[in-house]
Amino acid sequence: MPKSKYIIIVLLLACAACLDADISVLLKNETKTRQLETVQLEGRAYVRVDNLNPLLGSIAKCEYQDNRMYLYAFGEQFIFLPDSAYYSFNNEVFNMHYPLLELDSTFYLPEAFVLEQLPLHFPDSVAIKANVLQITKPKDRSVQRIILDPGHGGKDPGAVGKCGFREKDINLAVALKLKQFLEKELGVTVLMTRSDDRFVSLSDRTKFANDNRADIFVSIHTNASNSRSAKGLETYYLSTAMTSEARAAEALENGVVEIYEGKGEKQKYDDLAFILSDLSQTEHLENSNILATSVHQNLVAGTRGSDRGIKQANFYVLRGAFMPSILIEMGFISNADEEVLLTNKDYQDRLARTMFEGIKRFKYRFDRIRSV
Ligand SMILES: [Zn+2]
Repeated sequence: MPKSKYIIIVLLLACAACLDADISVLLKNETKTRQLETVQLEGRAYVRVDNLNPLLGSIAKCEYQDNRMYLYAFGEQFIFLPDSAYYSFNNEVFNMHYPLLELDSTFYLPEAFVLEQLPLHFPDSVAIKANVLQITKPKDRSVQRIILDPGHGGKDPGAVGKCGFREKDINLAVALKLKQFLEKELGVTVLMTRSDDRFVSLSDRTKFANDNRADIFVSIHTNASNSRSAKGLETYYLSTAMTSEARAAEALENGVVEIYEGKGEKQKYDDLAFILSDLSQTEHLENSNILATSVHQNLVAGTRGSDRGIKQANFYVLRGAFMPSILIEMGFISNADEEVLLTNKDYQDRLARTMFEGIKRFKYRFDRIRSV
């Protein structure tokens, strides 16, 4: 056999081996390479999207209604169509030359997408060096730890209804149910600023959240008003600009400081707030707003309660929390009808369930933005 022919055969064999080879992947901070399996489909090398996700820290979601596959990686969104080589990224259309394939409800992307397109889209995070795909995986910054803060407790009963029911007991009962839903159905860690009838100062509540590096903070309260007809649900997030109604709720909740934490304390919180509120909350204001909206919409729809809106107020308990934070007023204990509802176990269940749905929706959205 002539030498040149021999070389061609060797090259062909090498190429065939290339086609079958899995992709070697090295994750940053790891010393050993991993293998990303490739499979031959329609004569081309493909990788299972399910195998790619743990390496990229990405999430794939299939929308069966519009027959699309969404891939969220490094905080960006890809949209693929089964059997199409075209995909959208950052509102631009790209061609990966071979189509996305779907077999038995499993998606496969062409190997070329992984080796050529990914380094192109994420030059800082994905590169090929010496035939090894090197990936700097984004940190897992998804919502994993939630602080629930049942308002009042111990010597501070919160608002008290006509029939003698106390806000602190309602807040705790709903928070405990919500904790169960979150842990069981969302697999997150839930920490409580109090899980029994004890007094916890407002600053200790936010300190607890910050010390435990919580991802979100949810303070649960029951409202009261001199007007017996006042009723409905309100959800707050922090602001210094506010309406007169927000001022009323704020005065009610912040009043606890002077009554139960001593006279000098109010000044301390005000000074502290001045320094911290800007610093800590500006960054989280937008997300606090989104969390408030998600929870509030679910609460109102699920309980069919009166909608008093999503509001901004300057609650002590929300200041200084270094995370998206909201305060929920579940209804008016000063209103005879709502006092009965709020102390009803089934209604408390429904409150917890609808808050859960709102937090879940926020988590899904937030995790996607922050690219798990
Ligand atoms: Zn309260």
